[in-house]
Amino acid sequence: MEKQQLKNLTLEEMQEWIEDMGEKKFRALQIFRRIYEGVSSFDEMTELPRQLRSRLGECAQIDSLQQIKRQISAKDGTRKYLFRVEGGAAIESVFMKYRYGNTACLSSQAGCRMRCSFCASGAAGLQRNLNAGEIVDQMISMSRDTGERIGHIVVMGTGEPFDNYDELIRAVRILHDRNGPGISLRNITVSTCGLPEKILRFAREMPQVNLAVSLHAADDETRRELMPVASAYSMKELLDVCRQYTELTRRRITFEYALIEGKNDAEQEARKLAAKLKGMLCHVNLIPLNRVEEIGFSGSARRKAEKFAEILQERGIPATIRRELGSDISAACGQLRLQERRDSPI
Ligand code: SF4
Repeated sequence: MEKQQLKNLTLEEMQEWIEDMGEKKFRALQIFRRIYEGVSSFDEMTELPRQLRSRLGECAQIDSLQQIKRQISAKDGTRKYLFRVEGGAAIESVFMKYRYGNTACLSSQAGCRMRCSFCASGAAGLQRNLNAGEIVDQMISMSRDTGERIGHIVVMGTGEPFDNYDELIRAVRILHDRNGPGISLRNITVSTCGLPEKILRFAREMPQVNLAVSLHAADDETRRELMPVASAYSMKELLDVCRQYTELTRRRITFEYALIEGKNDAEQEARKLAAKLKGMLCHVNLIPLNRVEEIGFSGSARRKAEKFAEILQERGIPATIRRELGSDISAACGQLRLQERRDSPI
């Protein structure tokens, strides 16, 4: 019999599950709380009767991930993890230290089917969707490993979160539960490559969660070259939906723009982008791309990134250059997994 993954249950689902076992409903709350305090074995749940602990051991499991690799940056404490999920696929997660608190970058899928040309994560296609428990467990495993509280979540690791929409939403509900991790919705950011219907659905269902949309280009032609998803939705269509998002939620949207040397980083691109975003409640996050050997693209030089930001700012578009964390480890999305495949095929 397959064991029930407990982190894959919301509190309400756990209450139903425990009642189906013939146990009292309040036991679910006790178990739920202990799981998110970080316990990894039922024996540690001494407030539960011995008999229930042994039943749980037979039919349920607390952890759903196996840590297979970890890199720690000597420069800034960034930690990059490779976890194995059931079925054998490997996923990446990152722990980062920012001034405002510790942040976990989580994957939503094993692999990705969006196949953006600059991305190491999508290079091998989609292996499978993660369930909510596997998304949540990345954060719990990193918090346990570092011994530190994590107060911010970005769903920007491997995968397109909106391609796994229902599990993403369940994961956000679990992460937000005050009896569980208790992360404020305003401290959670979901990053999409730009799926218009899902952006609108997300605006209605999760208006307090931050949204980041990957643009990576200032015109359709360049965007199509970098992101196959742009063949399905034009920039105009995407930006119209983003405007609706800001009207519905009254929240600022973040546009991610990976600066790629000689591809999308010219001054005229910055001017074009500023014209397209004019008047929007938005912020542009410029990301000098980490070099990934397999892919052949290089990030823009710092000077070029600064000029790009300056042009946007002069035109009233708030823009910042993302601080580079973990530059001494394989910190770019997908790099650790590629490296592991080179070292020992998985
Ligand atoms: S950038 Fe994101 S959406 Fe694109 S292939 Fe990589 S993981 Fe998928």
